[in-house]
Amino acid sequence: MYTVAQLIGGVWGAGGEAGELVVRDPTDGTPVTSAPVATADEVGKAVAAARGVAADWADTSPAERAAALHRAADAVAEAADELARATTAEMGKPLADARGGVEAGVATLRQYAELAPARGGRTLHGDPAALDFMAPQPRGVVAVITPWNDPVAVACGLLGAALVTGNVVLHKPSERTPATGWLLARALDSVLPAGVLSLLTGGPETGAALAAAEVDVVAHVGSTATGRAIASAAATTGAKALLENGGSDPLVVDADVDPIWAAAQAAQGAFANAGQICVAVERIYVHRDLAEDFVTALVDRAAALRVGPGRAPDTELGPLVDRRHRDQVHGQVTAAVADGARIRVGGALPDGPGAFYPATVVDNCRHDMSLVREETFGPVAPVVVVDSFSEALRCAADSPYGLAATVLTGSMSHAQRAWRELPVGTVKVNAVFGGAPAGAAHPRRASGQGFGYGPELLDEFTAVKAVHIEAPGGGHW
Ligand code: NAD
Repeated sequence: MYTVAQLIGGVWGAGGEAGELVVRDPTDGTPVTSAPVATADEVGKAVAAARGVAADWADTSPAERAAALHRAADAVAEAADELARATTAEMGKPLADARGGVEAGVATLRQYAELAPARGGRTLHGDPAALDFMAPQPRGVVAVITPWNDPVAVACGLLGAALVTGNVVLHKPSERTPATGWLLARALDSVLPAGVLSLLTGGPETGAALAAAEVDVVAHVGSTATGRAIASAAATTGAKALLENGGSDPLVVDADVDPIWAAAQAAQGAFANAGQICVAVERIYVHRDLAEDFVTALVDRAAALRVGPGRAPDTELGPLVDRRHRDQVHGQVTAAVADGARIRVGGALPDGPGAFYPATVVDNCRHDMSLVREETFGPVAPVVVVDSFSEALRCAADSPYGLAATVLTGSMSHAQRAWRELPVGTVKVNAVFGGAPAGAAHPRRASGQGFGYGPELLDEFTAVKAVHIEAPGGGHW
């Protein structure tokens, strides 16, 4: 059992007066973690303590901060096995995936360590006797509030980019993965100057207290509802809100593709990490000509997945994060069935312990069903049959969300239409996951705001100052 401690003002073990939260293994319900819950007062004190060291860290040379981030990457790499085991124990994903998430986090830390010192401002061409330039500076105190579904990779991106650009950071990991957040903070704190990173634990109340505190940036990855609450708190304090939120990513299956291959893509997109990925395939628009072959192959894929505990080496589909989330997913499936959808495989709550939910394929869906329009965040593939590529594109575009979309097509003109017309941050053609390193996008509408990834995330954590310098009396220096 992990016993988590908070890190406030460079001191481990501070606070937790609001009580204790217990995380249970979603495989069998056994307790895994006990974590303190921070009070709003402790959050305020942690912010004040962080502000006290902000100027020193901001004054550290970019090369020195980059070297610290390289050391941080080494420390996280050293703790990789422990971090992966904690992730799997707390939220259930297969151990190899958890390990992959840690490795992605290490790579991101290294990438930011290399990129940050090379990213400068620019000089301007004004009066030749004057000096004009634009200089990026640290924003100050950054609150980082993260989810549980890929806890190390997501946190490393935000923490790395915020720290290396000279900000001090308060991290609030998800209440579903506090031990993972604690192990990560221990690794980072072991190589950073004291007080530069703080760790606060607790649930939504702790997050809300942090979002309402006197910080300069609130960076949140998580649900749209939370993102909106944070944006409204930030509007009151004047903090910048950086939001990477939910999605309902469409998969469009065009008439000219191999239905068996398309089903393999759909299965990967909908069932990986039990569907608990922000860019999971959430709704499928398949052309009528191949719909039945496609659905049959997708059902076969779903039925063939090896279900088991995340720690077992051959598991492909672990449990959902907890029973609360499972009830929500099952409720969405049940509501769709009551509205005329048909379950082709899965869709039933299994007996036994834990939060397991089967890979589920639902057809006879309509575009206006909430199972199709809302994020499910579970291993559920709702299928809508369409009569043309234009209809599929129209439905794909008609969503409150705008995170990402995938189109499977053999037609270059359809591919071109897809990337131009879909109002989303990322468009993938013929691959549900993938993309070049350093890709970054703006999520649209309910999916968030700002760059949450890539080199551009470094810019989100700096404020640019324009400077104009003249010699006294209008002369030359
Ligand atoms: P969540 O928003 O419920 O929780 C995320 C964090 O926000 C947690 O630390 C939580 O304690 C905190 N929080 C909750 N209520 C808060 C409040 N009122 N004020 C401040 N903080 C609060 O999200 P989740 O369930 O942990 O994660 C799943 C969601 O995250 C999904 O919607 C998924 O799509 C999204 N997600 C998005 C991305 C992306 O890059 N766009 C990546 C991963 C996950």
